[in-house]
Amino acid sequence: MSETNRLNAIREEILHCQKCPLAKGRKHAVPGEGPSSVDIMFIGEGPGYHEDQQGKPFVGQAGMFLDELLAAADLKREEVFITNVIKCRPPNNRDPMPEELAACAHYLDEQIELLDPKVIVTLGRFSMAKFIENGKISQIHGKAHQVGKRLIVTMYHPAAALHQPALKPALLEDFSKLRLLLSKEEPFEPLVAAPAPEKKSVEKAEKPSLPEQLSLF
Ligand code: URA
Repeated sequence: MSETNRLNAIREEILHCQKCPLAKGRKHAVPGEGPSSVDIMFIGEGPGYHEDQQGKPFVGQAGMFLDELLAAADLKREEVFITNVIKCRPPNNRDPMPEELAACAHYLDEQIELLDPKVIVTLGRFSMAKFIENGKISQIHGKAHQVGKRLIVTMYHPAAALHQPALKPALLEDFSKLRLLLSKEEPFEPLVAAPAPEKKSVEKAEKPSLPEQLSLF
């Protein structure tokens, strides 16, 4: 089966998924959207009211701001894949529960494997936590981390800047650097892991699973 067909098969599975109780409250599951070959993938938290109504990711207020952020990165929606860690709306937009995240995780894992993007941008703490253990978004927003063969760029969630407008300039600046990352023919080679300060190398030795944070961002 081609990548496109496999992605479509996952999409169909998500649309009919009954693996957790969120299925009961949804109008539409939201598998995500974008081409089947992309350099960059954006992962948010979960559908809100408008996404549930339309079955599409980031179409409400946060989505309008995401469009502005993509424009700051000189990116168009049509050239990126946008999805979420959970595919169905939690009641009253509450945080996803661990069992909901666990039930949905394999869908996202399969989407990542099939799309095989060079760069994954996490939007908010739930998608960040999938890749970066114990990350603090206020400290690592806009940073690129090499995790396996991919770069993970950790961003504030667009909705965070709608609630706290003081975050907006930081988000816009972080997004404006994405194009630089993508414009490299092979982004991994020119990027060198930042030399770890004395104290950090001790921490690293204690926590070998922590991914490298790269010096570009
Ligand atoms: N917030 C998200 O995290 N995802 C969406 O799709 C919409 C809002």
